[in-house]
Amino acid sequence: MKIRMHEGVYRLSGRMIPARIKQVRMITVEKCKWKYGKQAPVVIMMDDLCNKYMIQEDGAPGFGNDWGGYCKKEYSWYRFVNDHIFNDFPYARMTCFLVTGRREDLIKGERANRNISLRIDETDEFRDFLTYLSSDEHFEMAYHGYTHGRCSDSGRADGFVQEWRAFKDLDEAVKSIHAGISLYHDVTGHRFSGGKFCGYASNAFSLESITESGFEYWCCNENYADLNGGQDIGFIEDMVDFPSTIDGHLFSLRLVHHVFGKEYLRALYYLIRKHTTLEGRLKTLINNGQVISIQSHTSPIREDNMRQFPNVVDDIDNIRYILSFLKKYDLWYATCAEISSYYRSYMGVDVSSERRRITVIPKMERCIDNIWIRIEGIDKDKKWILVGDNGERIGLEASDNGFLCSLPPQRSGYCIMEYSDSCNGLYSPVIIRRN
Ligand SMILES: [Zn+2]
Repeated sequence: MKIRMHEGVYRLSGRMIPARIKQVRMITVEKCKWKYGKQAPVVIMMDDLCNKYMIQEDGAPGFGNDWGGYCKKEYSWYRFVNDHIFNDFPYARMTCFLVTGRREDLIKGERANRNISLRIDETDEFRDFLTYLSSDEHFEMAYHGYTHGRCSDSGRADGFVQEWRAFKDLDEAVKSIHAGISLYHDVTGHRFSGGKFCGYASNAFSLESITESGFEYWCCNENYADLNGGQDIGFIEDMVDFPSTIDGHLFSLRLVHHVFGKEYLRALYYLIRKHTTLEGRLKTLINNGQVISIQSHTSPIREDNMRQFPNVVDDIDNIRYILSFLKKYDLWYATCAEISSYYRSYMGVDVSSERRRITVIPKMERCIDNIWIRIEGIDKDKKWILVGDNGERIGLEASDNGFLCSLPPQRSGYCIMEYSDSCNGLYSPVIIRRN
């Protein structure tokens, strides 16, 4: 909403308002779509974390075999993501989609790769590991089923029935979800905020089974097939519908040392057929203020000897390239739960303004996060504060375009006032996270 200052004088005299006055004296107050007024949020989505690892033919451990079951051992998935992602990009955030029960094999029989697959509570080592991950700020654990699905007797991977397709009715689905989330809570003391359908596959009662189970957000669809715009974050029922927007296996054509690899050819195909590149896709998402969610898997190794794509091992050069590319933008690195929680406040809280007065009115339930606002049109050389109706004073932080601050999602009013010595000691500056 735009507020015009000192225009009344012109209106009263019946004269036209000079454009110069309009430009200089206009104060605008707008809600920021993302926390800290950042351009877009970024998250790495890691599918199929579970208490499982594959056994190589020679029995030796090696990078890529681990779905999580190696915990913090050498050659573990955890060591790999720390060494290759968090060491160089410590501000990055990852939401891991956890299978809580025994992760079912894709195929069974003599041809199937051997593995060890257990429930998350079956070994003390994994219990400790999961409890550690659940309280490490780099990670969020989200629900990804109890088994991930049902293996068929056909011996073929395409006979595998994804978990939410395998439930015969709503009751069975809800009971299974309850068992999965209880198991996680028993092991770690934490609760899931959201989750994802296994293989993004669902049926007529899948969504109801999720809404009945009290999740804050859910990943219903993969959206990276739509490379020109894609689906933005939104709501489905009263949950945040979280999109998956970047396929970690869509390589940048700038990674020329991959020029003889299949992934490079695939990227060329996208460029020729879909007229887009990885960089083009990222720029579109940033310009539109849309979520950048980089999709991956813990392990490339499947029971049928095919490789699982995308995966963090084969795609690591590309994932590191994406994170390096994004450095030049002003982005918010957060988990799916943090992004969803902020988005709920953004959509659920109205901020209106008139002259120098700002009013905050919540219109949706369960808004927890402070809402960030940007104020433009006040003198950049001065210090400003908001004075709340209850006397609270909130400092405004100067940014490249205007001033920023965050306000609680409660019904309240504030006045924009110039900071002066009489406010001494009451000025509390805004803390904006720098990457
Ligand atoms: Zn999965």
